[in-house]
Amino acid sequence: MSTPYRAGAFRLSPEDYRALTDAAQANPEAYWQDQGKRLDWIKAPSNAQDTGTGWFSDGTLNASFNCLDRHLKTRADQTALIWQAEEAEHIIRLTYRDLHERVCRLANVLRDHGIRRGDRVAVHLPTVIEGVVSMLACARLGAIHVVLFGGFSPEAIADRLADSGASLVITANVGRRGAKRIPFKTTMDSALSLRPDSLSVKHVLVVSVTDEPVPMQAGRDDMLNPLLASASASCPIETMASTDPLFLLYTSGSTGKPKGIVHGTGGYLTWASYTHELVFDHQAGDVFWCTADIGWITGHTYVVYGPLSNGGTVLLFEGMPSHPKPGRWWDVIQAHKVTTFYTSPTAIRALMREGNDVPREYDLTSLRVLGTVGEPISQEAWSWFDDVIGGGRCAFVDTWWQTESGGILISPVPGAVKEKPASATLPLPGVNPILVDDKGHPLEGATEGVLCIDGSWPGRALTIWNDDALFETTYLRPYPGHYFTGDGARRDEDGYYWITGRVDDVINVSGHRIGSAEIEDALAAEHAIVESAAIGIPHDLKGQGIVVYAVARDPSHPDLEMLAVRAIAAKVGRYAVPEKVYIVPDLPKTRSGKNVRRLMRKIACGETDGLGDLSTLADPEIVEVLIAIVQG
Ligand code: ATP
Ligand code: MG
Repeated sequence: MSTPYRAGAFRLSPEDYRALTDAAQANPEAYWQDQGKRLDWIKAPSNAQDTGTGWFSDGTLNASFNCLDRHLKTRADQTALIWQAEEAEHIIRLTYRDLHERVCRLANVLRDHGIRRGDRVAVHLPTVIEGVVSMLACARLGAIHVVLFGGFSPEAIADRLADSGASLVITANVGRRGAKRIPFKTTMDSALSLRPDSLSVKHVLVVSVTDEPVPMQAGRDDMLNPLLASASASCPIETMASTDPLFLLYTSGSTGKPKGIVHGTGGYLTWASYTHELVFDHQAGDVFWCTADIGWITGHTYVVYGPLSNGGTVLLFEGMPSHPKPGRWWDVIQAHKVTTFYTSPTAIRALMREGNDVPREYDLTSLRVLGTVGEPISQEAWSWFDDVIGGGRCAFVDTWWQTESGGILISPVPGAVKEKPASATLPLPGVNPILVDDKGHPLEGATEGVLCIDGSWPGRALTIWNDDALFETTYLRPYPGHYFTGDGARRDEDGYYWITGRVDDVINVSGHRIGSAEIEDALAAEHAIVESAAIGIPHDLKGQGIVVYAVARDPSHPDLEMLAVRAIAAKVGRYAVPEKVYIVPDLPKTRSGKNVRRLMRKIACGETDGLGDLSTLADPEIVEVLIAIVQG
């Protein structure tokens, strides 16, 4: 076990954390007004808190200005963005001046194509600089960006284009993956031809990632590069109200149909800046690498808006973790002296499988802060990441948050909040989590319950696109007065939070409430099991019974089921022993790498007729494989 943190290496101390928390508690209005000052406002807000009209409601500002223009006085020549291609020798470095110029050019092209404030612009790109540039160009004009994950199918794209009413799309001819080419433009063409009557797309701008030609539709499609070359390198900013939408983004769809979450400008950007600085201990000279695709909220807040509003240096990596050989990510960290590395438990599980010798070949001593997001992380994966990658020297931030929250809500603060492996630990100053019982009564002390947030915070989403009523019923109505997260959590005697999974995934066996994460944690400690998911299914006697899907390191291992049962009995308890353990080749995952339990539950219950929307799955074929295994 490593030391929890190196005293002195980080900006904040435990006393600082307490002082901030107390200040936020004592006078929230003053605290948030103060935090709002991290931004440059055109008209400074006279109030901070949301009293029904939104955060910083009478303030005006521009997000693109805050991420670019305001840095030009002090750090025009500092690197804003490092783009690392798959090939080690291919690197592009953009200073704040360069990035500002690129954003202005693209904003002018968008304006020439009729884009005005409030219009929706869809961005569908591989990991290229133009992704970041497109977001900031939209923000400059007050247009609302809708970033679509690059791996979406034509159906998934068409759904989101129709729902958002996007009038312009920015895509690429292709994406690169080793020698392979990913057909971005033709995928978009298919999406656009699927149900043309429900789409409003008038223009498609195409980034040339390679010189491969692609079919172009005259009058609709334009290659972007020539237009950028002839566009002006300066572009005025649009003055936006704090509560004007900055972007809309669809949730990853782990629990059902993705929701178009709308984020505002002033509150969201304050939150992005505040949380990026606090949680990642942002310091001058840091090289910040968040491996999330910009198609997810993590990419929005911690590739673009957080680090750039704070004047940081961001790394974008085009390639994959283990291509052309295992260790590629570690090579990138070494080459760019990455200080802050933020990724997902799912990626760590995959990298762990490659063993310890691979990372040991690289110098990873530049790292100061390691972070994860997206799912509970097992104690085993936590310790591996901390020890083998962090060398036991780094702060480890297990960050809990959601698309709807805009940024991190519960997480350690380096140097200030002592970690416990696999706990998201304590709320950030100013965030007030509470645990409630099924009836909504707040629970005190060390306990377990439904995780809600009391009151609001600047980063909270404004609404669901086109569906204010759904926003109310999903988040505000279930436990009146509180924001309902959909997640369950346990609070220990130190007040630390341990996320137990979605409330729907808390399994109640004969009155024992068991978080799916507890069972999965027990199995993760077994070397023979790579990954697992525990699901509750109806049971005549016990109320609910448990079914486990497990991926084996070596499927020919003779006693995997017995091994799993013993591990659960020993680590959780006999009452948590599953009815059935299915050994499967893989689990159904969203494209962001999250397990889709809703499907595993339906398959375990034999309800295979109405499996619902499969468009968010990374590999839809796994569904048939699971059905075959379960039905024996
Ligand atoms: P949908 O809302 O469409 O079902 P989703 O909830 O997977 O999709 P996201 O907003 O990307 O979409 O994910 C947020 C959820 O991810 C959280 O509500 C929580 O369940 C899980 N999560 C995020 N970070 C953590 C973490 N550090 N520990 C445990 N769970 C986490
Ligand atoms: Mg969700």
